[in-house]
Formats: sequence, structure tokens, C-alpha cells
Amino acid sequence: MVDKNEIIKKLSSGDMKLHEIEKFTSNVKESVDIRREYIETISAGSLDNVAHYSLDMEEAVKKNIENPVGTIQIPVGVAGPLKVQGEYAKGDFYVPLATSEGALVASVNRGCSLITQAGGVTTRIISDKMTRAPVIKAESVIKALEIKTWIEDNFHILKETAESTTSHGKLLKIDPILVVGSYLYPRFVYSTGDSMGMNMVTIATEKALDLLQKKTGAHVVALSGNVCVDKKPSALNMVEGRGKTMIAEIVIPAEMVKQKLKTTPQAVVEVNVAKNLVGSAIAGSMGFNAHYANMIGALFLATGQDEAHVVEGSMGITTAEEQNGDLYFAVTLPDVPLATFGGGTRLETARECLEIMDVYGAGKVQKFAEIVAATVLAGELSLLGALASGHLARAHKDLGRG
Ligand code: NAP
Repeated sequence: MVDKNEIIKKLSSGDMKLHEIEKFTSNVKESVDIRREYIETISAGSLDNVAHYSLDMEEAVKKNIENPVGTIQIPVGVAGPLKVQGEYAKGDFYVPLATSEGALVASVNRGCSLITQAGGVTTRIISDKMTRAPVIKAESVIKALEIKTWIEDNFHILKETAESTTSHGKLLKIDPILVVGSYLYPRFVYSTGDSMGMNMVTIATEKALDLLQKKTGAHVVALSGNVCVDKKPSALNMVEGRGKTMIAEIVIPAEMVKQKLKTTPQAVVEVNVAKNLVGSAIAGSMGFNAHYANMIGALFLATGQDEAHVVEGSMGITTAEEQNGDLYFAVTLPDVPLATFGGGTRLETARECLEIMDVYGAGKVQKFAEIVAATVLAGELSLLGALASGHLARAHKDLGRG
């Protein structure tokens, strides 16, 4: 073993790379400490708080992190109870939300309280899939169309080949197959069990592409051709869906809207139309909602989801109507990649947070998805209620009745 000071000296002089420290230490913890100490020598402050953690770094370095120096801490609060009447999630849940945005948990909690008093949110999963769309270069459009036809005619062989790499992944379809000039973008669509599935579908698609290249002479330019569409806002995902596509809805009696939100169903409907629909349309936004990203982001951080997928989960449409004088309120989420197995869900804090809702591990992802959709509704309803009550208060004041 090499002495700690010697390693830091070599790191400083550039004779050792940060990822090489493990080779010269007896365990991961030691290498994490040395790497952090080296970073402290070049930083403006200390990393005392980053140094305190309970995660098993030996496990984390296998799949979750490279060059670790410690962990960060984000406060986690709970909102609830939240009554959900889904197909998979039935009952009252406390939802963990990790955030540094004060008032977010309180606001979601207010939504939960109203929802639970009104009898609960109905949730449904409309579709469930993960996608990978490579880009293939052909010599001409004629050749690109021949490859497209080959893919369509030989789907069963590609399916068998892709599925030979996984016991949980199933290739559902290759659709759409877009052609632009001589480029071809086949979108491989899978079901991925309880994992979010990006690693799984990447490995499976790679194997299918090996076969495609052999049979057709296709040239794969990149395993992802951005038609997946991974970690970017996208109209394709809005329409076709990706991850979990979900709807949550509720009818809230006018009296409860008045008591809890200090507003009326009409005012909530008007704010929704003016802000979420017209405002978003004029801005060219793909988020026809007030703040799905707040709930998705806080839930993702708490439960070890891939945080970059917040950009996908931020898309969706809120609808609100008056129904017999009461408030009908719904959130439609087309694109929420989720996991209760694999990725970051195995990290100790993520697992504990998933367990609050009893959604850690195999057979739990649909239940988790429905709780996520219900939580988004809770936060959305609370904010629209706050905006509507402010609007009402101002209107009353302007009219001299405040
Ligand atoms: P993973 O951590 O590789 O776990 C998925 C694997 O777990 C599956 O392939 C499956 O093995 C196994 N598994 C065991 N029980 C399962 C169950 N009940 N349901 C489903 N699978 C089960 O993760 P992943 O979900 O495929 O990918 C998530 C990770 O990918 C995240 O860390 C994310 O950050 C990262 N990511 C990767 C890319 C990329 O392009 N590679 C892009 C974005 C994100 P079998 O396949 O053998 O059945």
C-alpha cells in the first residue's frame, strides 16, 4: 500500500489520476477519504459535511458513482396521509419529498389533506414502456427504406435476439421507424419490469443491432439517435409516452374547495385555462401545468430515481372543469421513467424512502407510479388553489369588497 501523503503528492503533480487511488488502498472508504483530502487541498473550504455519510460506498462504487468523495445531504420531509384509489396503490400513504425549497412539502401536504378529505385520488397507468432509438446510416433513401422493411418483416427475430440479453425485458414493438434523408431511426420499445430499464434496453438493443448490421449491412452511427427521447423534453414522448404514462383525477366538492383552498371551483378552472393552457401555449411550452417538476424532482431525489429524468416528468397537462358546481381536477403525465429496482433505488436512503410507501423491490413499480401521480396532483391542486385564491382576493379588493 502507498502512503496517503504520497498519493496526494502524486495526485497534485499529475502522476496519479483520481480514479487510480483504489489501486493503492486497501478499501474503498480509504480511497474516498484520500480523494476528498486531495480535493480539499485545492478547494476554498473544507468538505467536513460531505465526509459524513452512512451509505455503503463499497456497494455504491460498483454501480452508482465514480471518483466518490462522500455524499451530499438534502432535507427530506413527508407529505400525507394521501388517499389513493388506484389499481395498484390503494390506501393512505406518506410521501417522502427531498428538497431545499421551503414551502414545497407544506404545499403538497395541503393538497394531500384536501384529497384525503374528498375521498382520495383515482389513478390509472395508461402505458408502461422504455425506449432506445439508434441512428442508422444507409447509402441512400432507397437502402434506408429496405432496412426499414427488413426490420418490419423480421421483428420476431430481432425480438428474440434482444430478449436473449435479459430475463425481465420484453421488446414490445419497433415503432416509429423514422427516415430522414438516408438516416433511419427505429424506436425500440420495451417493457422493463420494476427497473427503469435504460441499461437493460441499451444492452438488448445493442445485441439486436449486431444482427441487423450482419443481415442488412446497416451502419449504426450511434446507439442512441435522440429519438428515444432520453432526458430531453420532447413532443414525441408527449404523444407516444415513455416510462409510465399516468392520469390522476379527483372531484372535490365546492364546499371543501372553499374551506381548504379559500377559493371556488370556477376560479381554479379559470387559472388553469389562462395559465396552464393558454399561457403555456403562447410560450411554446411542453409543460401545460404549474409545477409537476417540483413534486417529481423531490420524489426522485428521495427515492433514488435518475434525477435527469425530471425533465421528462415535468411534461404533462392539467385539466380542470366545473362538474355540477364541484371541481373536477386531473393531471396527465405522459413520460415518467420510474424504478423500484436497480439504478439508485438500492442506495440505503432511497430504499428507506421507498419502504415508507412499501414500494421497494420487485412487483412494486406500478403501485409506486400511482402514488407519484397522486402526489403530483396534490402539489398541482394546492398551487392552483393558492393562485386562484390570490386572484379572488385581488378581485375582491379591486372591486372594493376585500
Ligand atoms: P439496472 O440497475 O441495470 O437494473 C436492471 C436490471 O435488474 C435488469 O436488467 C434485470 O436483469 C434486473 N432485475 C432484477 N429484478 C428485476 C425486476 N423485478 N424488474 C426489472 N429488472 C430486474 O438498471 P436499469 O433500470 O436497466 O437502468 C437504470 C440505470 O441506468 C440508472 O442508474 C440510470 O442512471 C442509468 N442510465 C443508463 C443509460 C444508458 O444509456 N445506459 C441512460 C440513462 C440512465 P435482467 O435484464 O437480467 O432481467
